[in-house]
Amino acid sequence: MAKRILIAGCAQEVSTFNPVPSMYEDFSVFRGDEVIEHNAGKNSEIAGAVNLLRADGDVEVVASYSAGATSAGPLERGSWERLSGEFLGALRPFAGEIDGAFFSLHGSMCAEGELDPEGYLLEETRKILGEEIPITISQDIHGIVTAKMLQHIDGVAVYHTYPHVDFAGTGERAARQLLRMLNAKSTKPVTVRVQIPALVRGNQLITESGLFGNQVRYLKGLHDDPRILNAGFQIGNPFTDVPELCSQVIVVTDNDEEFAREVALKAANEFWGNRLEMHVELIGLEEAIEQARGMKGPIVFTDAADAPSSGASGDSNAIVAEMVRTGYPHTVLAPIVDASAVVRAVEKGVGGRITARLGGSLDRRFTPIEMEATVVSISDGTFPLEKWPSTEHAGPTAVLEAGNITFVVLSRAVNLVDRALFYANGLDPKDFHSIIVKSPHCEPEFFDDWVEINLNVDAPGSTSADLPSLGHTICARPMFPLDDDVEFNPEPQVYSRG
Ligand SMILES: [Zn+2]
Repeated sequence: MAKRILIAGCAQEVSTFNPVPSMYEDFSVFRGDEVIEHNAGKNSEIAGAVNLLRADGDVEVVASYSAGATSAGPLERGSWERLSGEFLGALRPFAGEIDGAFFSLHGSMCAEGELDPEGYLLEETRKILGEEIPITISQDIHGIVTAKMLQHIDGVAVYHTYPHVDFAGTGERAARQLLRMLNAKSTKPVTVRVQIPALVRGNQLITESGLFGNQVRYLKGLHDDPRILNAGFQIGNPFTDVPELCSQVIVVTDNDEEFAREVALKAANEFWGNRLEMHVELIGLEEAIEQARGMKGPIVFTDAADAPSSGASGDSNAIVAEMVRTGYPHTVLAPIVDASAVVRAVEKGVGGRITARLGGSLDRRFTPIEMEATVVSISDGTFPLEKWPSTEHAGPTAVLEAGNITFVVLSRAVNLVDRALFYANGLDPKDFHSIIVKSPHCEPEFFDDWVEINLNVDAPGSTSADLPSLGHTICARPMFPLDDDVEFNPEPQVYSRG
């Protein structure tokens, strides 16, 4: 008889420091077979898992529920209760009817009143599906797998790439472990986790070119060893201030605790040794603008502090405000979230003039700047990304021209990880001297290959790489770089479901 494997998903990356709560309505929800249909042909964890399982021939794949949302602020209490209730409710019909389960999770969710949402889901899942069936999960390299999660799963597969490209491959690794557990009953997953009291941001985390890539390649290379079921490194999302926020190595072996300890400690110690070198260097806002003023361009100002893909609100005007204050002479292209400015632009129509107070409509740390602007164009804000196979829904979107500054004003925050927003609104970033990019890293061909310089600016914001500026209050301390004199005394934790 074919083995039945259940697929489900729940994922969002949260920045605790974004004051705008996420709501249930922000999630794309799929039920039953829709989950698999929605992922068909995509580079996603669920697609990777489904394809691998179906290729086995002796597996029937069934699906219950999936929910996913763009990164944002913590999930509002009632929304979390509804979402978790739906996720668990959708599992109930499968109790006693399946042989294993794979869940596509993120690891950096956070809700009002629940600091470990995925741990809760897994704990409740066991109550519904029982202790016997194997469950594996996938997580982001920016995820934070917790003790509670590890107590209720048999294995976790983590992305091996940043910027992320191996979504499907990660789903495959989680599914491969499931198949092995179902096909070889003697398989006994033993997981070792080594937590590192360090949070890092910056170019050294790019797995192809940075120092962090060495540890990831080492763990990835271990997958050829039959003792290894899964091995990965999480750097956490440093903006998700939860009790177990940290960097960590997670190695799942087939009943080989000693080997798991050995490789996890090797990767963790290497990472710790590199922490100072990996720490991001930012350029002060005033200094960056002064430098750019005398340059030919084009220039990118990276505003990672307001990156919606990391969980920020997208309504920072910090760089533009400084440009206005100092009479910056060049043409500037700037994306910003401001729903009420879009409403006024739509009322006036293309060619109309409006007075817009831009910035700080969501995150009050930014003071709005008043700009007289011409409405250049209006769109519905729906556009496919260049970077990932997904479509963004920014809501009504207006291009406003205010002197030398061209704003793309969105009704809601979406991933701004490439040039797609600009193209969708009839703008070519190459036509501007200065472009503000609200993403910590982009593929080189998007900007870096053709700009004079990419200035990684130290602007304020809820996803600032200047981590001590954020005000963590919940994560374990001491923590590099939030505290001085942090020591690393590795204490491997072992998880096995006996
Ligand atoms: Zn990530």
